[in-house]
Amino acid sequence: MTEKIKKIKQWLEKNDSRLAYITDPTNIFYLTGFKCNPHERFLGLFVFPEDEPFIVCPELEVGQARAAFAGKVIGYRDDQDPWAAVGKALDKKKQNGEKIAIEPSTLPYKNAVILSDLYESPAFISIEGLLSSMRSVKSRAELDAMKKAGEIADYAVQIGVNAIKKGRTERAIIAEIEYELAKHGYSEMAFDTMVLTGENSAAPHGYPGTRQIKEGDFVLFDLGVVVNGYCSDITRTVCYKHATDDQIKIYNTCLQANRAAIQVVRKGLRIGDLDGTARKVISEAGYGHYFTHRLGHGLGLGEHEAPSMSADNDKTLTTGMVFTIEPGIYVPDLGGVRIEDDIYLSEDGPVTLTHYSKDLQIIQ
Ligand code: MN
Ligand code: MN
Repeated sequence: MTEKIKKIKQWLEKNDSRLAYITDPTNIFYLTGFKCNPHERFLGLFVFPEDEPFIVCPELEVGQARAAFAGKVIGYRDDQDPWAAVGKALDKKKQNGEKIAIEPSTLPYKNAVILSDLYESPAFISIEGLLSSMRSVKSRAELDAMKKAGEIADYAVQIGVNAIKKGRTERAIIAEIEYELAKHGYSEMAFDTMVLTGENSAAPHGYPGTRQIKEGDFVLFDLGVVVNGYCSDITRTVCYKHATDDQIKIYNTCLQANRAAIQVVRKGLRIGDLDGTARKVISEAGYGHYFTHRLGHGLGLGEHEAPSMSADNDKTLTTGMVFTIEPGIYVPDLGGVRIEDDIYLSEDGPVTLTHYSKDLQIIQ
């Protein structure tokens, strides 16, 4: 049995629960090494305080599940009801009114209803806190994958910057980035690649389109790649041909906020205060109300995971965490700047996993 499954078992014991029903494919991959995108099909990992855990998955995935997972694997065909197999496997362990540990954010409601029938009014408790705190502290192997993902993200930004040309559209630059990466064997992006130009860059989560690059534009790249399941997430903003004094001031304020936050990263720091450090720099420069989102987020198997680097987070930074620091300033009609790095908190302090230059670049 793996250490991770052991932790789940101990937690169940402590919380007086006799079943954890895990359905989120990312959590299942994290706990078992079995990577599966079941689409609309049923996938579940069942863990008990004492009995051996088992996986129920589509028949076509059974081979891969067995290769990754030492416990029992139960497959079902597309013409079979997966719940019949689950019910049979659970039969001897079942007790009505059971406390069942679930992931409230991802458990499909229809499955909760079926479980409620199987166990006759169970009490559902959340196991998400445990899973997200386990996932937030990275092992050596996880860190190695994330370092590599960071390097490839640096390279992807370089491809994008090289592709900047007058009249080029955002979509065309994205196509170039992803084509070049795929040629080098990196075809899984952590999320939809973002290239936003000119006034479009003022939308933190904008949708790239057919806007053509013009002189004087900000060009914002936000992208990430997946290596062995682990994500990177980088944002860089450059200017095209020339920059106004306003643009330079916005850029350098954002950069100062990024650097100030990275500098104070240490074990035990209240996470909300990290957000505050960056926000103070931006507010003092007069752009406070243009920094409209939290400072960052945890990163790992998910492109957004715990911890949330927001002002109201009273939790503290722990050694082993990987998270983003991504202050932004978005001025409507003018454009936006965001500078995002991935940070690993080592025993000796912060280690930056993204290295693409942050000094203001004016691309000619
Ligand atoms: Mn990003
Ligand atoms: Mn991010």
